[in-house]
Amino acid sequence: MTTTIFVLSFALVLGLATLSATQAADTEFGPQNPFYAPSTLPFQAPPFDKIKDSDYQPAIEAGMAQQKKEMQEIANNPDPPTFQNTLVAMEKTGRLLHRASAAFFAVSAADTNPDLQKVRSAIAPQLAAHADAIHLDPKLFLRVKTIYEQRASLKLDPESLRLVEVTYDQFVHAGANLSDADKEQLKKLNEEMASLSTEFANRLLAATKAGAFVTADKSALAGLSDAEIAAAAEAAKGRKVDGYVIPLQNTTQQPDLLSLTNRTTRQAIFEDSWNRAEKSDANDTREIIAKLAQLRAQKAKLLGYSNYAAWKLEDQMAKTPEAALGFMGKLVQPSTAKAAAEAKDIQDVIDAQKGGFTLQPWDWEFYAEQVRKAKYDIDQSQVKPYFELNNVLQNGVFYAANQLYGISFKERHDLPVYADGVRVFEVFDSNGSSMALFYCDYFKRDNKNGGAWMNNFVEQSKLMGTKPVVSNVANFAPPAPGEPALLTADDVRTMFHEFGHALHGMFANSEYPSLSGTNTARDFVEFPSQFNEHWATYPSIFQHYARHYKTGAPMPADLLAKIEKSETFNKGYSTTELLAAAELDMQWHSLPPDAPLQNPDAFETDALKKTNLLISYVPPRYRSSYFSHIWGSGYSAGYYAYLWTQMLDDDAYQWFVEHGGLTRANGDRFRQMVLSRGNTEDLAKMYEAWRGKAPSIEPMLKYHGLESNGGK
Ligand SMILES: [Zn+2]
Repeated sequence: MTTTIFVLSFALVLGLATLSATQAADTEFGPQNPFYAPSTLPFQAPPFDKIKDSDYQPAIEAGMAQQKKEMQEIANNPDPPTFQNTLVAMEKTGRLLHRASAAFFAVSAADTNPDLQKVRSAIAPQLAAHADAIHLDPKLFLRVKTIYEQRASLKLDPESLRLVEVTYDQFVHAGANLSDADKEQLKKLNEEMASLSTEFANRLLAATKAGAFVTADKSALAGLSDAEIAAAAEAAKGRKVDGYVIPLQNTTQQPDLLSLTNRTTRQAIFEDSWNRAEKSDANDTREIIAKLAQLRAQKAKLLGYSNYAAWKLEDQMAKTPEAALGFMGKLVQPSTAKAAAEAKDIQDVIDAQKGGFTLQPWDWEFYAEQVRKAKYDIDQSQVKPYFELNNVLQNGVFYAANQLYGISFKERHDLPVYADGVRVFEVFDSNGSSMALFYCDYFKRDNKNGGAWMNNFVEQSKLMGTKPVVSNVANFAPPAPGEPALLTADDVRTMFHEFGHALHGMFANSEYPSLSGTNTARDFVEFPSQFNEHWATYPSIFQHYARHYKTGAPMPADLLAKIEKSETFNKGYSTTELLAAAELDMQWHSLPPDAPLQNPDAFETDALKKTNLLISYVPPRYRSSYFSHIWGSGYSAGYYAYLWTQMLDDDAYQWFVEHGGLTRANGDRFRQMVLSRGNTEDLAKMYEAWRGKAPSIEPMLKYHGLESNGGK
């Protein structure tokens, strides 16, 4: 299955307008604050042993003030604008803000608490205002514009030319060409939206926690393994309740629905998930999302666009909503047809067992698992012992990177981390030189956001002399005490996926920090990660890591063959649920500026209906009210990117297949032409230069088993 993942990138924080209410906090900032000077740890790694929760806000606020001052100096420079005194100078600003906010956003997502949530609420509108203050500064924009207009005659190298164009486009995109009155209105809108997004994230975290399934009746959990039941009992203890607790994951479907035999329990857990944020209580998010959609449409109008999606996609690889919608439109028929065939197989099982009911979404995973067993005879409990976490990491994820790119890893125990269980590895290039730090934080905690993601603590930049420090975060079920951490096949994919983001960050080889690594368009940034998933089942890699945790025996050939055969299993469902979520996102963000406040439930039903995706047994991967990608993080009008980048990753993998598969030569070429390039050239052109042609949808249909004649 496709993993639910996003990159938490906070690289493009430019700008600053300190609000009067925050002035007091600035005075608390001084040399005693661990962010005051660059970290003296290797790679400038964050000094987590010295950072207190109370250090973040003063450091971020001082960082904004510092960057504001630096930007004003550039804007007020009496010398005529040059590439060096404007663009390069701007790249060097805001170092304090970068180091403090990178650590803060990572920790407040992975290991939050009420104090950090308060900080997040307090600084979100300030950061939005800060970015606006820079992008909407007329003197600064005039300098950028002057250089932009002279760029053809400046004899710049390609990366520098790209920096000029990207920076200019960012200013225009943010509203630099607006009148003063419109700029003021835009600033207000941005601040209001930032506050609403933060409120959404806080409510959803609380709603997800409160939505956990709780029962005192052990028999309700029939079908779960002893270890899973023990983990549910642990979770109950952690919350000081009697019995058993099954916490919610952030997707609509919940992992335990696969094995729970009690249909009433399955329905209850599904409904806990589906209704988590729609209980008309303090955690209900519907009012917020309706308001956000309206404000976003108004912002688009102010900037001269017919809707928010048109504005948002301008700087993406797809470039227009029409391109994204056209691409998704091509997928609807093959995906829903495959899902219908899968549903029929499932209904046949239900009927054969004289179930006497019609397939509902809470039945899907349970019976799909039976179909899988019948057709492919794969039982997850048979598979999981071969996926012990550390083995998958070292002999799978790291090994694949070594075979493709020649890099190697050594665990370090001397660097401070932000929570127990976080591990740190030093990464060495093929020539033995030390190139990066990699952190990983894989187990679910109640105070961790759902899903999985990658963070940059330090971004690579030749200009700044920095090497990458990146992290991967996930929500794998922690093992019961004394038990090994055994992963599902989906978890394994998630590890490879997130590590693909990490490679994109670690291979960065850019001059300028704002063009480095994962600072690319959203409909490109999931490409390296999804591409990296392909190696999880590549025979020589799989055989290397899929070993029984007790005996060390490799996974038996017949089980491996079944896993390979089952690769396209359930792809109708998984593609359709993604498509439904992506269409919901695009429909919300295609609202015209004069549209009234929407009723989210009615809007959702209508949006799915008109895109032929209102399918009773395939609910969207996220319902609007808990779709945190589009309301709480940066994926608004961008969720299609997961599918778009699947097209890219399958098309790219097809290139490897056509050129001898996993070889160092192929890996090095991909690293050199794509993974190391960040945003230093036009992404569509970068892709085509490496691939030899534009991406096509056919490999995606083939690898997902969605070809019209592919059958099931
Ligand atoms: Zn991702």
